[in-house]
Amino acid sequence: MNSQKGFVGIFVLLVILAVAGVAGYYFISQKEGRPSTPTTQVNDNFGQNDTSLNKPQNEVNQLPVTSPKQQENPVPSSQSKPTQTRTSKPTPPATSPTPPPREINVLKSDFFKNDSIAQSILSGTPRQLSDNNFLQGGKINALSFEFKLINAFKQLGMAELTYSEIPGSSDATAAFYKWQKKNGLGVSNILTKEKMILIDQQVYERERKDYESAKNYPPYQKFAAAPSNEPSREHLAAIYYNLFSSIPQTVKATLALSTREEQTYSTIFNLEEFVTFIDHIGNPYFGSVFNQETKRGLSIEEMVRMVDSKIYSFTFCGEGYYARREMGNCLTLNSEFFVGGISYDIAHASMLAHEFGHSVGSHNMLINGVNKRTHEHFGTISFNSLNPENVNIPLRVENDGEFISQYAKTNYLEDFAESFSAYIHSGNIFRKRAEINIYLKQKYDFLKGNVFGGKEYNTGSLDSYYLWQSKNKGLPPKQDYYMQEDPSWAWDYKY
Ligand SMILES: [Zn+2]
Repeated sequence: MNSQKGFVGIFVLLVILAVAGVAGYYFISQKEGRPSTPTTQVNDNFGQNDTSLNKPQNEVNQLPVTSPKQQENPVPSSQSKPTQTRTSKPTPPATSPTPPPREINVLKSDFFKNDSIAQSILSGTPRQLSDNNFLQGGKINALSFEFKLINAFKQLGMAELTYSEIPGSSDATAAFYKWQKKNGLGVSNILTKEKMILIDQQVYERERKDYESAKNYPPYQKFAAAPSNEPSREHLAAIYYNLFSSIPQTVKATLALSTREEQTYSTIFNLEEFVTFIDHIGNPYFGSVFNQETKRGLSIEEMVRMVDSKIYSFTFCGEGYYARREMGNCLTLNSEFFVGGISYDIAHASMLAHEFGHSVGSHNMLINGVNKRTHEHFGTISFNSLNPENVNIPLRVENDGEFISQYAKTNYLEDFAESFSAYIHSGNIFRKRAEINIYLKQKYDFLKGNVFGGKEYNTGSLDSYYLWQSKNKGLPPKQDYYMQEDPSWAWDYKY
């Protein structure tokens, strides 16, 4: 009798344990909400959606590897039951079909992992990309998956994101067509699971680098969160970090907002430099500095006070980079539909260097006993830079060979800024072209010797340069157009 009672007691206990185990498992998978990445994650604090660090360790250990399937179907099937009890649970009816085993594929990038369309592609539903989703009445739909995908290619360094010469491509598919060619894949407008996994993997790898760079860039803490479906604020901060950490200390700049006499800067790395630089260029290109309390853009006086007091209470909006953010407005996004283009990273970085180049050009430099602004020294190569009447007229008429771009011909100020940016972003092309023009060679040597302290850059694609030359006459509008117009080129973000 006693032993029978004991047996019943143990049986009841086992049933309770089994039920508790299943219920507990169900509770945890609900709480999880989404599958955890089975691989070890890089520990950083930038992944907006990465909550894995906050999970209690024992909870993680108890969990079986989850797959996307468990999201749609949170009731555990008998095969994935985590308990080891022998007790049989309600057996599913014999007629219920056994679901086929699915591969465990999890989106790894923070950019894609919460996207329902990317998830459905991964679970086997290909996506036909279409202008009908991307464009409505000539406006871009920022909430479309097509827009998001283009912004993935933006983070992979691609240029001209809505234009391609590949037959069959359209606005929505141009970047995808170029990406497929670049990766040696068959070209179509269907985004398959295999291609989705590869894109996600490449974005994931870029994110790891971006998070590391952003962490090392002090102004990053002031960058506003990105609009949905556009590159993260870490990605934008990494563009600043990569450029400005490549510039040697020999570079001296005078920023317009400098509040101390004879203030010089070498780079844009800390908050003082950042505020002073963003103001210097007058805001329209990169974005505005926005007061967190008053909810509006800072006046120049307020910026000067901020730099003097060293109390930096601002947000950087990055409107010049984000398609969906209206200039001077950090609070609201443009509507879902907007007119205009989608910028790309080499153009943004070249512009950053160009504008910083103006600050470098404004700095006084003593050469052969003459103390004047750096761009005035430089300006004597192609312009009569000190004659106010002829300041915008190049010294020679047949002069394409001595300018780095069409825009550099504007005047000696733009010549310096364009050449400064090309020295950094198109070093290989600048040197190649300088071999056959003595004036361009003088410009390169001036920058190398007087500005960059001998540092040279292995940047810019000669292949793109030759391709451009074979298709165009004269100079490109801007120094970096050689690469932008090359469909098989993508920026590696290296300097
Ligand atoms: Zn300029």
